Amino acid sequence: MAGKLYLCATPIGNLGDISLRCLEALKNADIIAAEDTRRTLGLLNHFEISKPLTSYHEHNKKEKGEYIISLLKDGKNVALVSDAGTVAISDPGEDLVSLCIENSIDTVPIPGPVAAINALIISGISTRRFAFEGFLSVNKRHRFEHLESLKNDTHTLIFYEAPHKLKTTLKDLYDVFGDRKIALVRELTKIHEEAIRTTLSDALLLYADAAPRGEFVIVIEGASEAAKPEENPLNALTVNEHVNRYISKGMMQKEAIKQVSLDRQVPKRDIYNEYHRV
Ligand code: SAM
Repeated sequence: MAGKLYLCATPIGNLGDISLRCLEALKNADIIAAEDTRRTLGLLNHFEISKPLTSYHEHNKKEKGEYIISLLKDGKNVALVSDAGTVAISDPGEDLVSLCIENSIDTVPIPGPVAAINALIISGISTRRFAFEGFLSVNKRHRFEHLESLKNDTHTLIFYEAPHKLKTTLKDLYDVFGDRKIALVRELTKIHEEAIRTTLSDALLLYADAAPRGEFVIVIEGASEAAKPEENPLNALTVNEHVNRYISKGMMQKEAIKQVSLDRQVPKRDIYNEYHRV
């Protein structure tokens, strides 16, 4: 009989958040597949669990995925853990789950901490309807296309971000969304846990001279139901400035003109003519 893949959520800071079921699954597994074996070894040592470890991460997921499937087919139970938090949320666990489904192997969730939800519940921003957006792409063009697609979304939006990219991301959010309520929730469950409930413009000022530290979740309020296209802050620019703003963010001229026509609800040809007017 095939083994099972146990998706074991681990603490995002405070080790006291490990669950009894997670400890049991780790102890009962034949092998533990970990995103960062050194980090997971620290966790296992803390809980006095000794098990064979194998790495499974973004850069070896193809070969290792096949290897793990072969173990499961041989009847071994595998526990999968990410760096921290819930497996398959912004980590390659998602691919291993798909592979298990393709191979008719059972997957068992072991619930536990997830940074996005814990940030949301203390953000002070509506929890009624929300969308988890993960990390924004580092590719400028994809990043802006992603943000543009969310501009009129009324859900509360949740992003993950690394501290060294936080300032750039706040600036990009401000450029596309205009000023909105946000919560910067950092170091959840750790000593320096903090929720900075502010606005995008004030957050930019806050970090103008200070370097952000720790792990961050950005929670941002959705577009107002009543928001109209003419309320887009970029519409206050001239057409040339507006097109050039998108080009500076990595869009091709043709795409920038298309986006400006959508923003302003003006035919593309008019934007093109205005932009090319001598
Ligand atoms: N699987 C994890 C989860 O369940 O939340 C997320 C992994 S993702 C690779 C790492 C990102 O999660 C960090 O860049 C940060 O945005 C967020 N994160 C993880 N731990 C955090 C913490 N203790 N406080 C705030 N954000 C955290």
